Amino acid sequence: MSKFDSKFFDKPFRFECQGSGKCCVSRGEYGHVYLTLQDRKDMAKAMGIPTASFTKTHCTNDDGVYRLKDNADGPECRFLNSKKQCDVYEGRPTQCRTWPFWPENMNAKTWTKEIATFCPGVGKGRVVPKESVKTQILEQHESELEIFDPEKFFVADAITEDQVKELLKSK
Ligand code: SF4
Repeated sequence: MSKFDSKFFDKPFRFECQGSGKCCVSRGEYGHVYLTLQDRKDMAKAMGIPTASFTKTHCTNDDGVYRLKDNADGPECRFLNSKKQCDVYEGRPTQCRTWPFWPENMNAKTWTKEIATFCPGVGKGRVVPKESVKTQILEQHESELEIFDPEKFFVADAITEDQVKELLKSK
């Protein structure tokens, strides 16, 4: 698990989604779309179906962790359509909305060697306001804490509580 680096976070980030759909394709450790309860509610609402039906049809639960079921036809997310657009865009889950500003991506090595090399939106467009980057990091962290029980999983350790407090203080 890569870690949040406060000094790296201080740098300006240019990012503008290029609509490549690459972040919606399973790859290595970025293989699944994990879901909070609110994510499941939002996706169900976007599809006009009850949350329970959405969960039964589209989700799997591994050891208490909800995620989207794999697509039987390939590595693409089951909601990525042929135009490389998300079929539930209005209700897309937290990890999709906050990409690429995840705590574990906020260090030079991960950002340069992994994120920037495959996501064509990195380095494009205007500098994203620091407030927006911060909000997305905190939102993603909150969702990881809800999804992954810190007693059982290490994923929520990408950012320390002291670093979270620092970010909140600077809001
Ligand atoms: S839910 Fe939508 S935005 Fe998220 S990975 Fe799937 S297609 Fe992409």
